[in-house]
Amino acid sequence: MSQNKQQTTYDDNNIFAKMLNGDIPYHKVYEDDKTLAFMDIMPQAEGHVLVIPKQKAVDLADLEPDYAAAVLMTSKKVMQAQRQVFEREGIIQMQLNGSQAGQTVFHYHVHLIPSSIHDLGRHAVTQVESAKLADMAKQLAAAITA
Ligand code: AMP
Repeated sequence: MSQNKQQTTYDDNNIFAKMLNGDIPYHKVYEDDKTLAFMDIMPQAEGHVLVIPKQKAVDLADLEPDYAAAVLMTSKKVMQAQRQVFEREGIIQMQLNGSQAGQTVFHYHVHLIPSSIHDLGRHAVTQVESAKLADMAKQLAAAITA
């Protein structure tokens, strides 16, 4: 048996829930009625974005079909913007289910990382300065709406 504690019930105070409630700041890339995309503050590569549903889902097991479709379509928009802004074809789409897999925030989210699987930086370790993230968010948002 694993020593890792598994979180199965949704915690309304998780950090992404606080973002959705407008309680903490973030660098927005895109938003619609079912999803929100923002810069990861501890990126595994430059331009790392997270896409979350506006649904209280801990992980993939909880995700409702409408929100699953919406997250995928937002991910597609973000990925295309990353290709344009960072001038690279390779974008990793990653999603962790459960602490055993390394999940640290228990509100379902998709990682979109302009990197190769062979070059990926460490997960959620090094924080990037806010001004840099704000600039990237602005460029990505502009590429999505163009
Ligand atoms: P995971 O481990 O798959 O649950 O990923 C959680 C991600 O959230 C990590 O990549 C963290 O760097 C990122 N993260 C944690 N806190 C914040 C925050 N306040 N704003 C943006 N990203 C965050």
